[in-house]
Amino acid sequence: MRILVTGGAGFIGSHLCELLAGLGHQVTAVDNLVTGRRSNLGHLVGKDSFTFWEADVTQDAVGEGWEAIFHLASPASPVGYQRKPIETLLVNSLGTYHLLDLASASGAQFLLASSSEVYGDPPPQEHPQRETYWGNVNPVGPRSCYDEGKRFAEAITASYLKERGVDARIVRIFNTYGPRMAEDDGRIIPTFISQALHGEPITVYGDGSQTRSLCYVTNLVDGLVKAMFSPGTRGEVFNLGNPDERRVAEYAHLIRELTGSSSPVIYTPPREEEIARRRPDITKAEARLGWRPTTPLREGLAKTIEWFREASA
Ligand code: UDP
Repeated sequence: MRILVTGGAGFIGSHLCELLAGLGHQVTAVDNLVTGRRSNLGHLVGKDSFTFWEADVTQDAVGEGWEAIFHLASPASPVGYQRKPIETLLVNSLGTYHLLDLASASGAQFLLASSSEVYGDPPPQEHPQRETYWGNVNPVGPRSCYDEGKRFAEAITASYLKERGVDARIVRIFNTYGPRMAEDDGRIIPTFISQALHGEPITVYGDGSQTRSLCYVTNLVDGLVKAMFSPGTRGEVFNLGNPDERRVAEYAHLIRELTGSSSPVIYTPPREEEIARRRPDITKAEARLGWRPTTPLREGLAKTIEWFREASA
């Protein structure tokens, strides 16, 4: 198939391109490199089945005649999107609009990479989060450019489904980690690994009792492909993530142990509007896609640490 991946030079996008090219598809990645990096695609450049275009999906034409479009383009780490709030809003609104138009004109299957951030900070009775939960989001808070951007992206995708009959589905991606995360993107895993490898203090925000559930990236992209191509996914919303929920302090100590670091774990002031608990309910993805994450946390972290060691060598 001829497949377009927006955000293809990003962390998740680059793993997706690799998987799709390996499955025998003709893959074109577009990225404006605002947070993506060319080096993420180094292993694919030069292959006949792969093309990279530096382009901005909010304003540039990105080809035609696609059979499938995976729309992943957007800054995605809190540090990344808070640095570029307007671009984040525009790629999720205007960018998604352009790509849905393109999908409609091409008769392409469309997948929107949305986020667990659409749930905001869920109350205890909405834990773990199911696809049926509507969310608790501050429209003008520190995360609003991303949360509302993704919520708009979901709304316009649902509208193109209804009004134009686009063959679209929405995937809500929960915290994901693995090789090719940017060391300075501020997210928990690259930050803790980098601090541990450099012998710097591992900075837990607040008391570290907040939780996250982390999915290894190759498992996640396998889920994206299943959500696009499994029968009966048109119009559906799927959570993709790992239900293995742990406290942030536990990740700090585990990374310290796995890197063999003597870095101290320190507790710093909490992040503004911290999300207390996050864990996906993946019952639907398991039942409908036959998907579940398979890489255990220690194994995924060991691979990620190895990659960070090699990247900084
Ligand atoms: N976190 C932390 N120290 C850091 C970076 C992150 O304690 O140096 C915590 C953060 O407060 C949050 C969790 O790790 O509870 C995940 O943060 P991340 O930025 O990776 O993504 P989020 O899930 O908040 O969007």
